[in-house]
Amino acid sequence: MEQNVARDKAKALLNDYLEMNNHRKTPERYAILDAIASMDEQFSLDQLMEKLTGELRFPVSRATLYNTMNLFVKLRIVFRHRLASKTTYEFCQFEGGNIHQVCSNCGKIVLLQSSEVEDAIEKMRLKRFKRDGFAVYIYGICSTCQAKITRKKNNEK
Ligand SMILES: [Zn+2]
Repeated sequence: MEQNVARDKAKALLNDYLEMNNHRKTPERYAILDAIASMDEQFSLDQLMEKLTGELRFPVSRATLYNTMNLFVKLRIVFRHRLASKTTYEFCQFEGGNIHQVCSNCGKIVLLQSSEVEDAIEKMRLKRFKRDGFAVYIYGICSTCQAKITRKKNNEK
């Protein structure tokens, strides 16, 4: 899905939530949403902060950023990947491929596309539920880490 389509969908989700819960539509929340929509794949809070302060000239406090990200995770506007080495975030694509291949050792995440998985989920019978997206995580060890582990084992022999 195109990035601005995903952004409009995320904006609609945020609007609905704020209206339903009588929260104010602060410009900060929308600025953060725009920043997220313009980030490449995975990013850290520091990188997002840099984007807001630098390129977008919309500095926000760390507390505001943190609270907003918590809300976005709850609304499934972003994914939060908690890894042993770091925490990264990723803008949700809403339709189709949110299939993540995650290395449990170094934390490297690769996004995959699979029409087979999409079809299988599409065909799944849900219980009184209107689906609007999905995420799949496949955990394991990447080839770089595998090579390192093999080398270490050979040295120990
Ligand atoms: Zn790895």
